[in-house]
Amino acid sequence: MPDKDRTTGFLRPQLETMAPEARQSYLDGRVAEIITHAYTHAPAFAAKMRSVGAEPGDVTSVASLSRLPVTEKADLVKLQRTNLPFGGLTGEPLESMSRIYVSPGPIYEPGEKVYSDDRWAQAFYAAGFRKGDIGQVTFNFNMVPFAFWLDAALNMVGAISIPMGVGNTELQVQTMKNLKVQGYLGTPSFLAAIADKAEAMGLDLQKDLNLQVAFVAAEMLPESLRASLQNRLGMVIRQSYGTADVGCLSYECHHMGGMHFAQNCIVEIVDPETGKPMGEGEPGEVVATIFDRAYPLIRFGTGDLSAFTTEKCACGRTSPKLTRIMGRVDQVTKVKGMFVHPGNVKQVADKFPEVMAYQLVVTREGHRDVMTLVCELKEQGADAGELTGRMQAAMKDILRISGEVDFQQPGTLSKDCKIIDDRRKWD
Ligand SMILES: [Zn+2]
Repeated sequence: MPDKDRTTGFLRPQLETMAPEARQSYLDGRVAEIITHAYTHAPAFAAKMRSVGAEPGDVTSVASLSRLPVTEKADLVKLQRTNLPFGGLTGEPLESMSRIYVSPGPIYEPGEKVYSDDRWAQAFYAAGFRKGDIGQVTFNFNMVPFAFWLDAALNMVGAISIPMGVGNTELQVQTMKNLKVQGYLGTPSFLAAIADKAEAMGLDLQKDLNLQVAFVAAEMLPESLRASLQNRLGMVIRQSYGTADVGCLSYECHHMGGMHFAQNCIVEIVDPETGKPMGEGEPGEVVATIFDRAYPLIRFGTGDLSAFTTEKCACGRTSPKLTRIMGRVDQVTKVKGMFVHPGNVKQVADKFPEVMAYQLVVTREGHRDVMTLVCELKEQGADAGELTGRMQAAMKDILRISGEVDFQQPGTLSKDCKIIDDRRKWD
C-alpha cells in the first residue's frame, strides 16, 4: 500500500481550481503586465511589436495576443547571431542571471538568479510526488536547463533531489535500492533500461525497489510502454509536456485523458501558417507565452502539433488539456530526448567530402531510439571502417547523440529524399 495519498490535492489549489472565467481575467492581467515589461526591456520584442504596428496598450488580454507574430526557434538563432548572447529578448540585465545554458542550435538561454517558476512543481504534485519523497533526476545536467529546473521543482514540493544525470545504469539501480528512492524523473526508455538492468542484477523490481511515481518527459510515451512499466515496477507513471525554452506547459493528473495546461503561462493552439488560434479539438501548433521577467518569451512557437479540450476533469483542475502531441510542424525530430535538426545533420555530412548523398533514419528497437546515418560515397573502396569512426564521432559531437553509420550503394537514396526519415511508430 502506498504510504501517502498521491492521487488528490493540488500544489496551487486556488489557481488550479479557479473558475474558467476568473482564470481568463487573471491571465488577461498577467498578459498586460508582461507585454509592458518585455516592450520596455527587451528591444527585439519591442521591434517585433512595432513591425505589426502594435503598442503595449493594444495587447492587454489573452485574446489580443494573436495580434503578435509567433517567434519560432529559428528566429531565436537568427536574433542571437546578430546580438549575443540572448538576441535582445531578455527582460533583465546579464548581471541578474545565474547561468547561461547552451541548448542545441546553439541557442543561449538565460537562467534567472532565483528559480521561482513552479510549473514543473505543479506537474510533480499532479503526478503524485509528495513532501519527503526522494526523486532521482536522470536527465542531462550538462549545458541545458531541464534537469536543473526539475531539481529545483522537486524542492518546491518538499521532495529531495538526487542529481544523477544520464547513464550509469547500474549505479542508478544501486542508488534507487540503497536510498529507497520513491520518484524517477527521466525518459520512459531509460526507465525501461533501468528495470532491465535491475532484473539482470537479480533484483525483484517491486520488493527490492521502492519506486512509487515516475515523471517522464522528452520522449513519446506509448501507452503499451506505460502499462508495461507500471506493471513491472508497481508505480504510477505520468508525463508532461514543455520545452527547454518556455518550461512546463502541461501535465497529466491522476485521471489522465490529456495534459492540463500549467498555471501561470498561456498555451495557444494556432494555425502554423497564419498564427491565428484554432478551435477546440482542431490540431495546430502549440504556442506559449510565459511570465518570466528575465526571459519573457511571448508567443513562442514550439513546433509541436497538438489540440486542446475543455472537457471537465474529475481531478478538480479546471484548466483545459492538450490532447496529445501529434508530431512536428517542421522536419525537426527528437531522438533519445534530444532535438535533431535537418541543418545539424547537414553539418555532420558536410564535414565529409567523401559523402555524396545521405539521410538520417530514425527507428525504434524495443523501447530504444536508434539513429542511423545512411550514406552513399563518391568513390567505393574508401576505408569505410576508419570513415565510420570519424563520422560517428562527428555525429556525437554535433548532434550530441550516438548513432550508427550505414554505407549503401550509389542510387539507394532517392535524389530528393528528406534529410531525416523518422520511421518510428507510436501505438
Ligand atoms: Zn485532471
